[in-house]
Amino acid sequence: MQVAKLPQAKKRFGQNFLVQPAIVSRIVAVVAPRPNDALLEIGPGPGALTQALLTAHGGVEPLRVIELDRDLLANLHALAPAERLQVIAGDALQVDFHRLAQEAGQPLRVVGNLPYNVSTPLIFHLLEQSDAIVDMHFMLQKEVADRLAAGPGSSAYGRLSLMVQAQAQVEVLFPVAPGNFRPVPKVDSAFVRLTPYRRLVPELLPPFARVVSLAFAQRRKTLANNFKGVFDSAMLEVLEIAPSARAETLDFAAFVRLAEALAQ
Ligand code: SAM
Repeated sequence: MQVAKLPQAKKRFGQNFLVQPAIVSRIVAVVAPRPNDALLEIGPGPGALTQALLTAHGGVEPLRVIELDRDLLANLHALAPAERLQVIAGDALQVDFHRLAQEAGQPLRVVGNLPYNVSTPLIFHLLEQSDAIVDMHFMLQKEVADRLAAGPGSSAYGRLSLMVQAQAQVEVLFPVAPGNFRPVPKVDSAFVRLTPYRRLVPELLPPFARVVSLAFAQRRKTLANNFKGVFDSAMLEVLEIAPSARAETLDFAAFVRLAEALAQ
């Protein structure tokens, strides 16, 4: 991995390229690709991770990559023949992952050092298509990783934690310091695994999203206040939720009770 050969990074595409072989090896070790996996990398950039994934994967199935920056495509095409590396030019936020999984004949394993500006919408876009996905491994801003994994009582706990934890198991695997990227970002990063699961019946997801959004609408206010017009204090007490409590003290099960009550 030669730092000198890196292309000029473009801020608008959220480009911070990985330049430390040790981190790339660590990523590949935790992803542990197998030759038959339908592996898909989002935002391959100059291809440091792509090359390591290609080597580790060994390639019965081709590695698929989705890259938005057209200036990087020629270099990606040159990394491996098309039967080993399928380069998809475009915006991962617009990609139909069901279609890709169908083409592969199996659900996808998604990997990426994500552009920080699109990481949250991209995770939700992928979770909407979670039956097309086995697992996702992402480099994220550490603050986002903390929010994804947070539980009750933590200041990082909120809408993002609950909406993702309703749909996937979250594991923060290891921290990654800014010096591992060029240009050096201003923030710390962490490498995270998300494994989709069905924690709620699908019909409960919209009311769950609504109660979570209402509860955290004004973080410092009580639940009685945030739920005004939806649940009165007596109803909250029936659901074993203190009206004077704040949203950040409620565990997952309490939000499920609220969602079920709203759905009735
Ligand atoms: N994987 C490379 C690495 O680790 O060195 C590059 C990581 S860089 C943080 C993010 C990459 O995602 C860039 O190559 C950028 O052009 C690409 N990208 C940004 N937005 C994207 C999008 N919406 N869809 C697909 N790729 C995108």
